[in-house]
Amino acid sequence: MSIRVYRNAAIHTGEVGAPPAQAMAVDGELLIAVGTEAEVRAAAGPGAELIDLDGAAVLPGLYDAHIHTAQYAQSLGAVDLRDVRSLDEALALVKAHAARLRPGAWLFGGRWNSNTWNPPAQPDRYALDSVCPDIPVALPNVDGHTVWANSAALRLAGIDASTPDPVGGEIVRDASGEPTGILREAASYPLRALMVSPDLRDLLRAAQEELLGLGLTSVHDIDGEDCRAAYLGLRDAGELKLRVHKAIPMVHLERAIAEGRRTGQGDDWVRTGPVKIFSDGALGSHTCHMSESFAGEQGNTGIAVTPYEDLVALFSRAAGAGIAVATHAIGDRANLLVLDAYEALGHTPGLRHRIEHAQHLRPDDLSRMARLGVVASMQPVHCTSDIDLVDSLLAGHELASYAWRGMLNVGVALAFGSDAPVEHPNPFAALYAAVTRTRTDGTPVGGWQPEQRLSMAEAVTAHTLGAAYAAGEEERKGLLTPGRLADFIAVDTDPYRESPEAVLRTKVLTTVVGGDVRWRRI
Ligand SMILES: [Zn+2]
Repeated sequence: MSIRVYRNAAIHTGEVGAPPAQAMAVDGELLIAVGTEAEVRAAAGPGAELIDLDGAAVLPGLYDAHIHTAQYAQSLGAVDLRDVRSLDEALALVKAHAARLRPGAWLFGGRWNSNTWNPPAQPDRYALDSVCPDIPVALPNVDGHTVWANSAALRLAGIDASTPDPVGGEIVRDASGEPTGILREAASYPLRALMVSPDLRDLLRAAQEELLGLGLTSVHDIDGEDCRAAYLGLRDAGELKLRVHKAIPMVHLERAIAEGRRTGQGDDWVRTGPVKIFSDGALGSHTCHMSESFAGEQGNTGIAVTPYEDLVALFSRAAGAGIAVATHAIGDRANLLVLDAYEALGHTPGLRHRIEHAQHLRPDDLSRMARLGVVASMQPVHCTSDIDLVDSLLAGHELASYAWRGMLNVGVALAFGSDAPVEHPNPFAALYAAVTRTRTDGTPVGGWQPEQRLSMAEAVTAHTLGAAYAAGEEERKGLLTPGRLADFIAVDTDPYRESPEAVLRTKVLTTVVGGDVRWRRI
């Protein structure tokens, strides 16, 4: 491939304090020069291909450090119950969606939130059976930790009145002991294992276009082994346009070890990531593991999905085999225990361990997290979505919540992402949330716990270089400097010059991965 010069742009390289560059030269997949147009054209030599970016602002490609791309790909064609405000409305949408499916196909989707339904109603399998008597339906709620299933789905998963509650989960039952169709945490795993889409590769091929169009050039994928296989298939067919750091689900750790997988192995398109371990649930389901009871629920401190001794054993098994650990922890007790377990693991050179979400910590644990070198993989939009929940459920708790500023101040490495499809994967929504701590309607005015806000530069860094650092890729990605991959985006709004409200509405114009234009707004 000849040398290309991308010119006529305000190029934010991501280096602290560096003025914008005007042009970049790319040879193959790598940047070879960045600077004024004259400098770059001199470095590129005669005969370079010139590509005009029409004066746009350019940023390093955005990197989502926590996204479920298979679930997101499935959600693009699934029923979305997020904005539904009653049980009847939910059932009408499910019925309309089911009419389009072939017999035996699973109905995907969900994200319902029965707390917002009026009149108040408890979802159960009989309601779903009334609109879907034959096809299996299993719909995760808005935080993904509770599943609402119909009778056909329960039958396929072998769940009935005689099934005991699994460790770390609950099959909700009626007075006679019959499952109601509501499954919490680990109780939903048998269903989830069945809900495999046969055409994941096609779905991911379509979903990558959406993600590239949002300005993402790399992702840490948190989904399953079927997703990994689909990505390897796309890569081998030359159809992969987005770079994937692929996590290993906890249940497949032994298989990954047996296959000799190690974190960081692979190429620049598909690389082996960390093993993903759950330590607790989520706030919305009242299952995150807290040191004190939820307000108004004396005695309920959430669920420890993986007991501490098992965390320690899993960490040492993974790290001993060269696999980094990424542990989901939301409640302060969960975060404390996970940090204890990382401390017990000791020094593991070359492996960057992380906490996924790291939402509510005891203030003392921030500096411990920094000292242990544990990366905080956080999703800014979770903060602004959760404001009411935190103010009510965690009232009176002494916590550092979504404490981005506090973490940076003590030296915790931050990596930002979306957790899509729990939230929309738009990274500009994350930048807006990180610098304002307000919802998209501007409330609460001045921001929620505004002392934890970041500057735009810090937020962009967490969504680029920070995510690259979490993957051990900071020498390849995250900055636009010579020797790094030519992964960048041209946007219609310069985040360093415009207001956060304008940044929220940013439109990506061009997405370049490995020196090639992979997506362009038409
Ligand atoms: Zn997640």
